[in-house]
Amino acid sequence: MGNEKTELLTEIKEAMENHELGAYYQPQFDAITNRLVSAEALVRWIKPDGTVILPVNFIPELEKDDSILAVDWYMLEEVCMFLKKQEKEDICQVPIAVNFSRMHMVYEDNFTEKLCSIADKYDVLHKWIEVEITESAFVEQSDKIEKLVRSVREAGFRLAIDDFGSGVSSLSFVKDVEVDTLKIDKSLISRNCEDEKERIVLESIFNFAHRLKLTTVAEGVETREQLGFLRTCSCKKIQGFLFARPLPPNKFLDACRTQTEAAETEDILLTQAPSSATQLLLDAVFIKYPLVIFSNLTRNSFYMMAYENFSSTSCPSTGIFEELIAHGASTMHPEDRERFLETFSIANQMEAYKSGDKFVRLVTRQMGDDGIYRRVETTNYFVKNPSADDVLVISLCDNLD
Ligand code: C2E
Ligand code: MG
Ligand code: MG
Repeated sequence: MGNEKTELLTEIKEAMENHELGAYYQPQFDAITNRLVSAEALVRWIKPDGTVILPVNFIPELEKDDSILAVDWYMLEEVCMFLKKQEKEDICQVPIAVNFSRMHMVYEDNFTEKLCSIADKYDVLHKWIEVEITESAFVEQSDKIEKLVRSVREAGFRLAIDDFGSGVSSLSFVKDVEVDTLKIDKSLISRNCEDEKERIVLESIFNFAHRLKLTTVAEGVETREQLGFLRTCSCKKIQGFLFARPLPPNKFLDACRTQTEAAETEDILLTQAPSSATQLLLDAVFIKYPLVIFSNLTRNSFYMMAYENFSSTSCPSTGIFEELIAHGASTMHPEDRERFLETFSIANQMEAYKSGDKFVRLVTRQMGDDGIYRRVETTNYFVKNPSADDVLVISLCDNLD
């Protein structure tokens, strides 16, 4: 052990004895309601002269061996005392996440027992404490982690994977552990979600996490653009400077008093990402047109998007365009059939397209699943995809009455 290290260790021990180490609390907000719903405790070393030392200046050194353990347990006690104070003063309590180094898995066999004994010593309900363990611990300590996760959760604590996406993470370890929360690392939103590839990766992670029923938290959110995009991914909670920095305990108490109840809601139109605007537009289109069909006249193919209440469900949702037209004709009033087949034949539509028409439109009587004829107006709009010469058509079908 080097001299510097010994010195740091002694200093940290003294700092704990003199209560110079303490917790700052960074609030986490519901992404939609903007309500303060939970927080993370972050260690700060506050020197007698008031200077605040950030964890990056001492945690990595302590994490080289078991020196970090005492700091984490100290922080848990801090958080328990804080939660107790909140309860006594009748201030709205929120769950608080505590960071635990991967070294606990290396050096301790009785992690959960210790967790329980400290929480119980302060008479704090286990549900108020979330154990945060970094992704790297899940990868390095894969043989021990499953058991640890299970026992922590069986004891009633919540458990989060911290810094997900910061290292060589694999998605597959997440499915093997029963955690509550996935914290998406700030490095994944570092390009402000402006980069398409970054967005694709994030969308996939959120999709995957939500399908596994995990609560998602985005870390390091600093801009409205990031917030807008994260909302379109249905990210559950936001932690970042955009909403709040880590706060000293008294400031955090104030935030709990004021921000856990009424939250000022924002104009969603100003914060949403373009994909979300497109979704809104689609919702409106579906109100008017319960059936939308995309066809490729050049390739004789189609697929459809049908709204919940469209009257006919018997038609396949993708396949050969000519079969779609034949199927459509079969549900038509006999007097309308010929006209329908002719208007929407590939040859006829191609001709209309070549002569410069923007659309082809026809009203027919069509039988729904209930055996009743309704007037349906079908309009086929010619559209172009910039990367192909194929003649594409979007059919909007409107139930008239
Ligand atoms: P972490 O657990 O991932 O904590 C989040 C870090 O991101 C915090 O840094 C927080 O201040 C910072 N952060 C939050 N929002 C933003 C933002 O919008 N922009 C930027 N640039 N940063 C943001 P902090 O407090 O300096 O802590 C750094 C790391 O130190 C923590 O990362 C955690 O790994 C470790 N740490 C902190 N407290 C403890 C502790 O009590 N025990 C252990 N073992 N590690 C701790
Ligand atoms: Mg953390
Ligand atoms: Mg983190």
